Amino acid sequence: MSSSTPATLHVARAIHTLDERHGTATGVLVRDGRVVTTGDAAQLRPDAGAVIDHGEAVLTPGLVDGHTHPVHGLEGTFGVELTGIRTVAEVRAALAEAAARLAPGQWLCARGLNPVVFGGSVPTAAALGLGERPAFIDMYDAHSALASPGALRRAGIDGPRTFTSASRIDCDASGRPTGYLLETEAAELVRAFVPKPEPRELAARFAQLVRDMAASGLTGLHAMDFDHPSEDLVRAVEAEGDLPVRIGFNPWVMPGDDVATALAVQGRRGRRWQVEGVKLFVDGTIDGGTGWLEYADTHGEGLDPLWRDLGDFREALTRLHLAGVNCAVHAIGDRGVRETLGICADLRATYGPLARHRIEHIETLPPEHVDLFASGAAAASMQPLHCTFFNEPDRSDNWSRRLGDHRVDDGFPWAQLRDAGAVVALGTDWPIAPYDPRWTLADAQLRRHFDAGPEPLAGEPLTALQALEGYTTHAALASGEEAHRGRIAPGYDADFTVWSADPLTVPPEELAVLPVVGTVLDGAVVAV
Ligand SMILES: [Zn+2]
Repeated sequence: MSSSTPATLHVARAIHTLDERHGTATGVLVRDGRVVTTGDAAQLRPDAGAVIDHGEAVLTPGLVDGHTHPVHGLEGTFGVELTGIRTVAEVRAALAEAAARLAPGQWLCARGLNPVVFGGSVPTAAALGLGERPAFIDMYDAHSALASPGALRRAGIDGPRTFTSASRIDCDASGRPTGYLLETEAAELVRAFVPKPEPRELAARFAQLVRDMAASGLTGLHAMDFDHPSEDLVRAVEAEGDLPVRIGFNPWVMPGDDVATALAVQGRRGRRWQVEGVKLFVDGTIDGGTGWLEYADTHGEGLDPLWRDLGDFREALTRLHLAGVNCAVHAIGDRGVRETLGICADLRATYGPLARHRIEHIETLPPEHVDLFASGAAAASMQPLHCTFFNEPDRSDNWSRRLGDHRVDDGFPWAQLRDAGAVVALGTDWPIAPYDPRWTLADAQLRRHFDAGPEPLAGEPLTALQALEGYTTHAALASGEEAHRGRIAPGYDADFTVWSADPLTVPPEELAVLPVVGTVLDGAVVAV
């Protein structure tokens, strides 16, 4: 480390280093964007050129959201936001109000549609009164969509089709499409016709989004896609200055895709972004009946993986493992989790730990399968708000109804996975749930939404420290970056979140709205 640049001393009431050797400090010395050392602020002061005094604030390692879609999710911000609406009448009213502002023939777009509004029936365009106006509505799990008859006609869809994956165009008894499109391949047929936002407007929204994310306390994102125009957007921001958050991108490998395409972009990078792995899907979602379960859901669905031939899935994972590429595998149902973990364990046993794999979501898992994570073959990456923000303690929500009591009891086993010794990274899957890390940190401890109350959902909560570790040390372990991120320790990136009070001791309800005073990236304050 060069001693030519003077070191800067960050001083705070307390600095939770999350480093066993150093514990809690009051000073952290930074040079050239890296931590030099931590300790007592008064003792470090003689070694410092400049001092940044955070006063009564408390520092933690910078928070990293383990699962987001910062570019893909922006598209939805151009349409009607339906998240939180629970009745079909309110959905219809929201859509009608938006349609009234549009020109005839102009696309109506919306996102966040909760299937609970259909009262247990299969979603249809007719139930929402969608007609000739082209309309495209993303379900809240972003795996399925509803298209109006006008949109289906523009996309040339008039009946069922066969896909490479287990995607499906839902059709009525006479073979006519109902508008319900299950999983990506089917939804993309119509999404491809939705007019794209103006590039300049998209760039402005992206720049604003990452600024807002930084202001909420985030210093990093694991982006679970590398969709166009991700690269254009990050390059545009870095042409003007610096990204206020680090972004690691994971391009998709879907059934039928050539793995070589994802391999070709590995290592592509800018100053604060890089392509650092791939995202695969072994299944869909509980709400769509496409999550891969050990036994059928209450609708008789959930018995198929997204890959029609699991051998192809295994082959793709093997090629990626041998190439040393980290794989993040979406697996929501217990069967999907078990099968994926089994493949990861086999690859590790056969070839050694050539890459760092992780399983995304894990929404229901029996105790005997929880213990399989102790092998370390894959990390767990989980989103507490998917439980607390959408589910009801009385189990009247669509997810709980689909799974039935037994599997709801085994739902979202964050604490059990930690107890089993698993790495548990936390995140939001924004735009599926709000990106504010404080909400997740609070809800993970409460096992209910901090704003709802007082009855918790089934299952065990995390401790304050486990929740914080999910955004710091465990996020770094999940992406294989634990040697330089996730702690405040010598040689580590100087990324900190600056809190107005101690996030490890304030009650979770307070933590959810606790002011974040700033974030520090590479030793410099980037958001206040
Ligand atoms: Zn996602």
